[in-house]
Amino acid sequence: MADDTPPLPPLRDIIRRHGLAARKALGQNFLLDLNLTRRIARSAAPLADCNVVEIGPGPGGLTRALLLEGARRVVAIERDERCLPALAELAAAFPGRLDIVPGDALTIDPASLVPAPRKIVANLPYNVATPLLIAWLPSIAAFVDFTLMFQKEVAARLAAKPDTRDYGRLSVLTQWLATVERPFDIAPKAFVPPPKVTSTVVRLTPRPEPQAPCDQGALERVTAAAFGQRRKMLRQSLKSLGDAARLLHAAQVDPTARAESLTVTEFCALARALTASVR
Ligand code: SAM
Repeated sequence: MADDTPPLPPLRDIIRRHGLAARKALGQNFLLDLNLTRRIARSAAPLADCNVVEIGPGPGGLTRALLLEGARRVVAIERDERCLPALAELAAAFPGRLDIVPGDALTIDPASLVPAPRKIVANLPYNVATPLLIAWLPSIAAFVDFTLMFQKEVAARLAAKPDTRDYGRLSVLTQWLATVERPFDIAPKAFVPPPKVTSTVVRLTPRPEPQAPCDQGALERVTAAAFGQRRKMLRQSLKSLGDAARLLHAAQVDPTARAESLTVTEFCALARALTASVR
């Protein structure tokens, strides 16, 4: 697309001028390579007709990539007040297309910030990445898709299939509602400062319908009990939920199976049986 934005200063200059030395407590590992941030933005395509919520813009590297790749509007939630003047400069370079919301993303409903169609794109602060995703799941249908960076190990858990080491609660709760793709990894050296771990770009696309019907709270309880003792047979690990044998019988699940071998659909059957048992 035609690029008629004024030339933007290099991110390193912005960081120096605004004193944005990275703070570990805020999960700050900045991406300064515009080729890479534009590649991430392109993984979130199409952007032109969408309103994007970005979590943690920091000095604005991914933010400017999203705008340069044509996002109609970006609303970015940033907790670190030191970043706000730098982000205000970026907003001035893209009139009417960038708004900054100062605050903690854990306390803000992202769907309330922009009208549909909405996307979330973020190089997430690792310390809050999983809690943020869990908080967004109940309203996942409000979004077209999510393009998020996670630690590689967390991305593997999101995408894991039954009978693998990485398969767990996060896999079931996420895949129940969304399909999971992992377009590419990002090496630690791409970040300033480099984190200890490799990162993975994850794209989550909400399913038109959940994989099987069930109540989300019941699914959370069943998966917590089952994976809380993942080496035990389900007739043992589900005892904390009440009459485990009856639940398993109602859900037509083998009582000697273990959590890691159950499909998402089988977990949903258990969740429905749990809901029925407390009626
Ligand atoms: N997007 C920038 C980039 O890619 O270079 C920065 C990414 S850095 C990994 C994470 C960013 O999230 C930081 O700017 C940090 O201040 C911000 N942050 C951390 N915790 C946050 C929270 N709870 N709510 C909003 N922003 C947060």
